[in-house]
Amino acid sequence: MLTAHLPSGFIAGRLAGRRWTIPAAMPVALVASVLPDLDMFWFHLVDHGSVHHHRYWVHIPAFWAAVAAITLPFLWRSRWRATALLFFAVILLHLVLDTIGGGILWGAPFSDHLFSLITVPPDHGHWIASFLLHWSFGAELAIWIWAAILWRRG
Ligand SMILES: [Zn+2]
Repeated sequence: MLTAHLPSGFIAGRLAGRRWTIPAAMPVALVASVLPDLDMFWFHLVDHGSVHHHRYWVHIPAFWAAVAAITLPFLWRSRWRATALLFFAVILLHLVLDTIGGGILWGAPFSDHLFSLITVPPDHGHWIASFLLHWSFGAELAIWIWAAILWRRG
């Protein structure tokens, strides 16, 4: 997913905040929606693109499952339980959205296969152009439109 993580976090924060009382729902949802992609700094500045950034630990579901298993018991009886659940739900949403065309290590640590729902062929020279011109980019546009509708409704 190229562009729709932040609006997907907005949608999650808005819907969760409407349904439940969640402290800091929107800022937590927005941060969680893009947090795994902070590995792009390491990808570009340290690894110089030599390793697919979806192979870094912040894009591995097992890592986040371990973090949730460690942190949720401590937060379970606090007022931050719902916030923590929203955080991990939006992290999971990020990984699911990345699975559409980017590939995620759902089987890690037992498999190093990047699971992907579709393969975007490199038809347009640069990979960004290939993603932007592929039919699957419609999913990103739909997320943006949904977020814009929620934004306009206030
Ligand atoms: Zn990502």
